[in-house]
Formats: sequence, C-alpha cells, structure tokens
Amino acid sequence: MLTAETVKRFAREKGADLVGIAPMSRWEGAPKQMDPRYIMPRAKSMIVLAFRISRGDLRGIEEGTLYTTYSSMGYAALNQILGPMVLWQLSHFIEDHGYETVSMLNANGGEAINPVTGNFRKNWSVPVTEDRPYPDVLVHFRLAAYLAGLGEIGYSKVFLTPEFGPRQRFALALTEAELEPDPIFEGKICDRCMLCAKHCSTGAISTTETVKTTVAGHELEWGKLNPLACEKGIQGGFNGERNPFLQEYPRRYGYGRSIEGACGCIRACMEHLEKKGILKNQFKTPFREKKNWPDLDHSQPRTLTPDIVENYEKTGKIEDAEAYITYNKVDNFGTAGKKAAPPNDLID
Ligand code: SF4
Ligand code: SF4
Repeated sequence: MLTAETVKRFAREKGADLVGIAPMSRWEGAPKQMDPRYIMPRAKSMIVLAFRISRGDLRGIEEGTLYTTYSSMGYAALNQILGPMVLWQLSHFIEDHGYETVSMLNANGGEAINPVTGNFRKNWSVPVTEDRPYPDVLVHFRLAAYLAGLGEIGYSKVFLTPEFGPRQRFALALTEAELEPDPIFEGKICDRCMLCAKHCSTGAISTTETVKTTVAGHELEWGKLNPLACEKGIQGGFNGERNPFLQEYPRRYGYGRSIEGACGCIRACMEHLEKKGILKNQFKTPFREKKNWPDLDHSQPRTLTPDIVENYEKTGKIEDAEAYITYNKVDNFGTAGKKAAPPNDLID
C-alpha cells in the first residue's frame, strides 16, 4: 500500500536527504501563473525532495583555491543529475501503484515569468485556453518546501532547514496519490542576524526593505533581493572582488558562473547557524577557522609570484594565459578530422 511513509522511505533510499509532503490545497490563493494545481489539476499531494549541498563543496571557494566543485557537485549535479535520478525512480514507484505523478526539477528556462527578475515575459508564450495560465507555470520551489514542512525561508530568501541550514536544493513531484501531509514548520531558524546581507558581495539583500507574503494562512517575510545584483554577485562581484580569475571563468555549463560560493546567503549564514549549534548536521571542526581572504583589487597590475617564476625558469616554460584562450578558440575538431596541437605547456 502506498503511504506517505513508504514514499519517503523510497525517496531517501534513492538519494533524497529530506522529504516533505503538502496537500495541494495549501496553494490556495497562489497567483494563477505560479499555481502548480494548473499543471496537474487532479493532483492531491506535492512531494518535496531536498538534496544537501555537502559542506565540503564550498571549501575550495572558502579557501580561494578550487572553484569547480561547488558549481558542479553543489549546484548543477544536484539540480540536473541527482534530483532527476531520484524523481524518475520515485515517479515510477508511485505510478506502479496506479497514481500518475508529474516530476519537476529545478531547471529554469521555459517559464512565462522570468525566475531571476520575477517579471512577466511579454511575447513569450500563449495560454492554450483562456482559463489557463501561460506556459510554463513557474512554481516557487522555496514556497513549495515551506508548504511541505521542511523549514522556513530565511531573511536571505534562501530556504533554511533544521538539518542543513541553507545547504540544500529541491525537486518536486505532484501526484494523484493522497498522502498524509507534513505539518508546516513552526520552529525558528533565522534570527535576523543579517550576516547574509553583510557578507553578500554586491549588497543584493536589502537590510531595510522586506517582502511579505501569506501562504496557507502563514505570513512570511524576507529581505528584498536585488536579483540583478545577485547575478553579478554569483559571478564574483561587480568588480570581480571574489573572482581570482583574470580571464572569463570557463562557462562550459550554465552553473559554472557561480564562483562566489554564496558568500553571504549560504556560507556566512551556515557558519552562523553552525556556531549557534542549532543544525542537526554537525561537524567535528568549524567551517571557518580564520578570517576569510580579502576582496581582490583587479585594478592593480598582476605579476607572477616568485615561486612560479622560479618553476618556469627551471622548466624553461612560461606561458601566457592568452595561449590557453587561443587554444580554446581554435577549431580543434574541425574539417577532415584535423586537430590543432595545443600549446606544449598545456598538455596534461
Ligand atoms: S544569515 Fe542570519 S539573517 Fe540571514 S538568513 Fe541566515 S540566520 Fe537569517
Ligand atoms: S548568491 Fe551571493 S550575491 Fe547572491 S544574494 Fe547570495 S551572497 Fe549575495
């Protein structure tokens, strides 16, 4: 028999860290363009899966030494690999019991409302009938997580759970199965310490203006976020203060831009909540044991550090980063199978 407990156990076994369930009725009052009941009118329950961002995924950016792990393991892979893998299996499991299930991963792209700016996109799509919203309907994943009882939306607008604080990403499933819902979270995690706003690289989180909304009879409030400032922030700040790269950071996939490692809304917040000892996922060592590295000043001329000069003097090889850029621009897989040779230094 399919129950909330069997669904949760299955999702956890397949890789979800947290699972919460909300009845669809909790969306009552949501704007039409953001109401998942239009996606699946027969849905009775919404299942929200949370996948933790490992604390170690943030370590390389914290130390200023490795930038790929957070954007890949802590971002893209959760949204685009682990989330869908679990959703596939979960939807099959529920459908094997005879209940249709719609999987929804956190994949921006088709929404009629721009998920970054929150603005409606003119000339984007047309409703298939007058009574339906424009495709795609934009479901607010953080509100979904709130409605499923997983935690609360912090002042930073990032979702906080008692288990991981700000460290998780979400995937959703809407299903015809009527499952026992979880109660809405009534605890308190965010203490309005404002460290998220203070450490945000572009001041994207207002300390004075807030946004209020009421869902399922609960009033929620968070700091007003300037999404365009955040867009600059995640890429290293307005002037690259948190970006040690002197060339465009490889954007081989969309998430590769996120090199600032959410220094305010995730790292500072997590550090604060861990120090307070209120998160269930505890560690033997504190996240930050020394002052974080200072903002970088890209207006200063760059010179190679002495150890690099010495190394290159020994090997006789010194290569301007431009060579790498040129190599990447060359049509390496071009006509007749010809492959241009990469600069010697860069063969690995
Ligand atoms: S840093 Fe402080 S104010 Fe900001 S979300 Fe976390 S607990 Fe709330
Ligand atoms: S991701 Fe970075 S820029 Fe955006 S709100 Fe968080 S700390 Fe600020």
